[in-house]
Amino acid sequence: MTPNNGFAKKRTTLRKNVREIFHFIPTDSVFFFLEKLWSRLHPTAGKCLAIVLILFAGIAMQGNWLLILSSFVRRFYEYPKEEGQESLFKLISQLQSRFRGLPYYILTSVTQSSIFYFGLCGFLQWYFYVRQRDRPEEWKCQPKKFLSWEDEKHGILLGTACMLTGSVISAFLSCWTVNGGYTALYYNIYDYGIPYFLLSIPLTYLVIEALFYYYHRIFHWPAIYKTYHKVHHRYKQPTAFSATAMHPLEFFVLQTVTFIPMFTIPIHYAVFIGVVFYENYYSVIGHSGAKIKSLWPWQPDSMYHDNHHEFFHVNFGLNTKLFDYLHGTLRKEDHIYSENIFYGYGKKWSEATEEEKQEFLRDHKD
Ligand SMILES: [Zn+2]
Ligand SMILES: [Zn+2]
Repeated sequence: MTPNNGFAKKRTTLRKNVREIFHFIPTDSVFFFLEKLWSRLHPTAGKCLAIVLILFAGIAMQGNWLLILSSFVRRFYEYPKEEGQESLFKLISQLQSRFRGLPYYILTSVTQSSIFYFGLCGFLQWYFYVRQRDRPEEWKCQPKKFLSWEDEKHGILLGTACMLTGSVISAFLSCWTVNGGYTALYYNIYDYGIPYFLLSIPLTYLVIEALFYYYHRIFHWPAIYKTYHKVHHRYKQPTAFSATAMHPLEFFVLQTVTFIPMFTIPIHYAVFIGVVFYENYYSVIGHSGAKIKSLWPWQPDSMYHDNHHEFFHVNFGLNTKLFDYLHGTLRKEDHIYSENIFYGYGKKWSEATEEEKQEFLRDHKD
């Protein structure tokens, strides 16, 4: 069988599987319509549209839409300063008022995230994994390997569960924010002056990056890895759907890491929204499985996190190599890595056993 026949067979199987799971949707007609629409677009317009769609998908996957909206809405309201608490009763009634209308927030958050999540991640899957399935060497980080359909389904189901959890967390925070609850966000750019405003952009970015790096490294400690983080590493060839597919406890920690600055550092609301957009966008890019060059000097290419999934205990950062560089955990070409070589430093080729070398060559022969 020629390689082309092999890819054609895989493509047919994929279509069959997609039809099977979404049997109530006329998938062939949807693919045909998308292909027709996309071929009419100017390549630059197509690229710009893809960036916008990935941006929306990233926010939807974490369930953050409503929180962004509510941070913006709060900009238009003045809330009276809170006086000191006099009694437990007053504290409880104040807490109740902070969560007024919570069910509506949850419903809105879950609905909007679900629509964006399935619509946009579905689009990304079609764009790369259906449309360009037969020429992976042109775009794929690991061109000879694809996730099995079992792992793909697992990623979609777990990613959906995490998206729903994120939507509920986002609804709680949005309700709290809109009803005047405490946040460290500020709304007038002159409150802390222009120099502080400008400095707060890299500062917020670095705080989130540092929190992410250390939380991620702890989740790679053997006992914690095997119990929790291994779930996310099931996807050795990540796809957009698997970006947020992880153990629910880990997803909760990830959300906490993202929102700690919102309650601790005075940040202008526009900076907060911008940083959340940025983090979520690159989370999708890093898990797309597609070779995508970075637009910024501080941002690694998509291959950086794809390598983390391929080689396991290495490249722990999110959107900067800085902390990996400082701790010596960047992937090195002359080292071998495997799921059983912990702590981020791999093993020098010269120090590896014959068995480890054979295993490494078998898993990464391309
Ligand atoms: Zn990891
Ligand atoms: Zn990942």
